[in-house]
Amino acid sequence: IESALTFLVISCPCALVISVPLGFFGGMGGASTRGVLFKGAAGIEALAGTRCVVFDKTGTLTGGEFEVRAVRPEPGTSSERLLELAALAESWSNHPISRSLVEAAGAPEARERVTQAHEEQGGGVSARVDGKLVCAGNRRYMRKLGITCEDPEDAATVVHLAEDGAYLGCILLADAPKPGAKAAAAAVEALGASVVMLTGDSERAARLTAEELGITRYEAGLLPGGKVEALEKLMAENRGLTAFVGDGVNDAPVLARADVGVAMGALGSDAAIEAADVVIMDDDPAKLPLAMRLSRRCMGIVRANIVFAIGVKLAFLALGALGAVSMSMAIFADVGVMVLAVMNSMRTLRTRAL
Ligand code: ADP
Ligand code: MG
Repeated sequence: IESALTFLVISCPCALVISVPLGFFGGMGGASTRGVLFKGAAGIEALAGTRCVVFDKTGTLTGGEFEVRAVRPEPGTSSERLLELAALAESWSNHPISRSLVEAAGAPEARERVTQAHEEQGGGVSARVDGKLVCAGNRRYMRKLGITCEDPEDAATVVHLAEDGAYLGCILLADAPKPGAKAAAAAVEALGASVVMLTGDSERAARLTAEELGITRYEAGLLPGGKVEALEKLMAENRGLTAFVGDGVNDAPVLARADVGVAMGALGSDAAIEAADVVIMDDDPAKLPLAMRLSRRCMGIVRANIVFAIGVKLAFLALGALGAVSMSMAIFADVGVMVLAVMNSMRTLRTRAL
């Protein structure tokens, strides 16, 4: 009876059952004090195994605050009118381009003048302004509407404008990278993961941003569906898991498709926060390498606990089978190991040093 009871006490799995979930809870709690919200243990595990990080450009690597660099109206239209029409047509959208245009035009009163607003994902918007159909968007969107126009040579992001099918001119915008973006891309590479940028913006805008951030691999001109395809291609060729970091404007499907979706919580849309596994509260891209380090350390602690708890128990069970374990030693193998494992798990709460 005594050996049976000794065996029973040693084999109680409470060290494992308490310390493993506690390690993940601690990891989530510790990360949240640094502005990184993991929605669950699965997100921690997946991010720890990530070997390729795919960034969206607008709103993720760049601030999403476009500055109007130039307004180029066609003859017969004034710059003020072009900007005002664009701002009115864009007034219903919450795309970073739209918000920047509305601000640049001094937020004209749109409520009664604009009807039937429609947004084409990764293209632009159309709306009736004072009864006339105004379309604003990139060259691909204009071509789809049957309007021919060219992107100026000196521009990064261009919004073309047409009214009732007649081309009115274009507005040139530029969007600066976030201050921490370059360091974040370098830090992700230092952690052994490759960095790729995907964007729906033009090739030229993508190249300028990628060069500035030291990112060698990028794909431009992607529609939301194209981003999913590009991501799937990367997932197939990459050995580890793939994370996608986006703001959810036109990329919520990609966030949901990636092994780990990381959303920008402040600028990001509700759809992004819904679809993501990890949310970065202050939109700082530098939080991504931090989240990777936190998740890797958390997984390390959890794995150490699993090995330690199972190892000690197996050893004591073997000794117990030979009759070499007293009841007090059995209690150490149960409660003692549990307390040690729990104390180890609590290290996940300390994030200051990472
Ligand atoms: P990114 O992939 O860089 O986050 P998006 O997919 O949001 O960019 O948009 C891709 C492109 O589609 C933009 O660069 C812009 O040319 C065009 N576009 C999308 N929405 C709008 C809009 N509301 N107004 C004007 N252009 C837009
Ligand atoms: Mg975006």
